[in-house]
Amino acid sequence: MHLKITVSGIVQGVGFRPFIYNLAKRHGLSGTVLNNQAGVLIRAEGKRESLEAFVRAIQAEAPPAARIENILTEEFPDSGLSDFRILPSDLEREGFTLVPSDLALCEDCRRELFDSSDRRFRYPLINCTNCGPRFSIIRALPYDRPATTMCEFEMCAGCRREYEDPADRRFHAQPVACHACGPAFSFLQSTGDGWQSVDGDPIGLTVTALREGEIVLLQGVGGFHLACDARCDSLVRKLRERKQRERKPFAVMFPDPEMLRRCCRISDKELSLLTSPKAPIVLAVKQPDCPVAESVAPGNPFLGAMLPYSPLHALILREFSGPLVMTSANLAEEPIIYRQEDALKRMPGIADACLMHKRKIEMFADDSVAKVTSGRPRVWRRARGYVPSPVSVSQPFRKQTLAFGPLMKNTFCLGRQQVALLSQHLGDMDSEAAGAAQHAALDHFLRLYDMQIELAACDLHPDYTTTRLAEEWTEQHNIPLVRVQHHHAHLAACLAENGETGPAIGLTLDGTGYGIDGTIWGGEVLVGDLKEFTRKASLEPVAIPGGEKAAREPWRMALAWLDKLYNNSLFDRDIALLSALRENPGEKALYTLLSPHLIEQTYPKTTSLGRLFDAVAAIVYFGTDSQFEGQAAMGLEWLISREPEEPYPTDVFRSSDRIKLSPLPLFEKLLSDIRAGVDPERISRRFHQAIVSGYSRVCEMIRDDTGISTVALSGGCFQNSFLLMNFESELQRRNFRILSHGTVPTGDGGISLGQAVIANTQEEVS
Ligand code: ZN
Ligand code: ZN
Ligand code: FE
Repeated sequence: MHLKITVSGIVQGVGFRPFIYNLAKRHGLSGTVLNNQAGVLIRAEGKRESLEAFVRAIQAEAPPAARIENILTEEFPDSGLSDFRILPSDLEREGFTLVPSDLALCEDCRRELFDSSDRRFRYPLINCTNCGPRFSIIRALPYDRPATTMCEFEMCAGCRREYEDPADRRFHAQPVACHACGPAFSFLQSTGDGWQSVDGDPIGLTVTALREGEIVLLQGVGGFHLACDARCDSLVRKLRERKQRERKPFAVMFPDPEMLRRCCRISDKELSLLTSPKAPIVLAVKQPDCPVAESVAPGNPFLGAMLPYSPLHALILREFSGPLVMTSANLAEEPIIYRQEDALKRMPGIADACLMHKRKIEMFADDSVAKVTSGRPRVWRRARGYVPSPVSVSQPFRKQTLAFGPLMKNTFCLGRQQVALLSQHLGDMDSEAAGAAQHAALDHFLRLYDMQIELAACDLHPDYTTTRLAEEWTEQHNIPLVRVQHHHAHLAACLAENGETGPAIGLTLDGTGYGIDGTIWGGEVLVGDLKEFTRKASLEPVAIPGGEKAAREPWRMALAWLDKLYNNSLFDRDIALLSALRENPGEKALYTLLSPHLIEQTYPKTTSLGRLFDAVAAIVYFGTDSQFEGQAAMGLEWLISREPEEPYPTDVFRSSDRIKLSPLPLFEKLLSDIRAGVDPERISRRFHQAIVSGYSRVCEMIRDDTGISTVALSGGCFQNSFLLMNFESELQRRNFRILSHGTVPTGDGGISLGQAVIANTQEEVS
């Protein structure tokens, strides 16, 4: 029997052809295998039983980094092939090749790395067909060595032999290298305004510097990191000062799962995510006696934990044998530095020493961040390891589409045929540096995939820098631009990730998104599909004093809600937060805020649930402090007591155009609980439960009105594990079908996907 087998998905650059070659030999088959535009094409000849077993094994034994989307088999007449061969790529046809993402160090390479008899013993860039850099070093397609940043390194005879042998596990591993032929390493010491190279073993020198309490700049896979001993509080504080990063948590890399387990509570799911080829930062609960310094993640019960995902990290961590802070090399909120010139120019005052090598990073990617909630990994920041893995969509893109994404936590998205390609996390688009990073990434993606964009999408907000960029870009290229409402994009992103088209109830809960009425939305219940939506319900609108400032100063939202509750008579109320504000005469704005009737009248309105969390956090525990966005609300989640409580009451009512959920009754009870000395832990629990039960009731009313019983959960508030888990169980109990996010961020990192699918659907109809 002769079968033609087409395997599609992520099957190139992941060791697929040698895998097929060896599998065919094992099953006694003859034939050929090659890469083409559709994926991998196999022709196999042999006994029927062997062929059937072979096809089953393709699925069951595929290399760890491969993602098979489809196996298509067709029967052909026998052609009398005698052996099995790997043929050169056939990439001529019109089509669409996918780029593999960077893959964490595999077990085979790790063994060789630490085997003193191996010729790659302690070689910091060891890799094979199952592991190593991909996305970060690829300059063009097809993915071949000359098209990567490894092009300038001539393979030695030993490496070439492995590279050319189909039975070798380095067959066509494009970045293959060794001590003899690979990129050289150097260790540099900062002189304050420049660098001085130091002779010796670069890895050994790096470990010594770390042991002596230095902050070391390390060239990683998708960019540069700043590393230092995570156990030393004063050192971590010094790093914060130099980086101008006050409070946001740093990630920590542990040498091995054993030490990680001593520092954090790690489930099997979390461990398998940490040791997967994607190897993201995983948020895990700190153990009580965790030796990691408090200043690494101040006031935070979680630690962003990583295991060494590159051979360079594996060497350093094993020899250092303690946890290291491993944070992106940048200043404050700027994008990660990934070019050597930039690192050397900008980091001498920040790092004391530097370890770098000559394998250039073509495209940056931060470490991805994920959390396991209700048994499923949820990606919060999608970058290294995940990008550019495609999201398969249910409605193919008829036109090549580009969505520019939101303002904060920006990603962009390209749509073509069956796939949506999300860019890596690009950060907040409110700085010049971020704009430049977006530009570089966009340019790279468009060139890499040879895209001819025919349709574009952006946010509805007229003043976002991303909107203006989209306007300029589409005008220049003369293509139509579709403007998509933020929460509709959240809903569509959730539908698209789950391969659905809707309609569904979109429970979209987040901090900020520009609404079609010009107010700030964020506690919305929509009904919609990939094309359109109606706003069926929202939180009751309230003033947002100080506009953008409110996200950084939670007390502002507390004042707005209290003002609404007490009907503009705040002065004589005995509430700790108010006394604290009165005692702070430095803030002139406070007096304005506290003047009667001013709040409701002066400020724009919001229905943001994120801002309601801020308000409650300010009243319950956070006071007059300022925060990075979402910080106070996260603290409220961490407070939650374990035991279930009676939820606070909320008021759900129908108004002329939609259902509204008012938290005013909640505030009344909450304030009386505070007066009665109830624990903040219990108050937080009652508040969270009130949100779950209030919105669940709203969903039921909408189901009664529309007959729709699928709920898509999306928006940054679902990073709150309590909300995600409890909405899932509460809505299930009420017989809803639930969709939520996994590898596409529930926060604004997923918005561009929603924009792309909506633009595509709208365009198709018009
Ligand atoms: Zn490997
Ligand atoms: Zn070599
Ligand atoms: Fe959002």
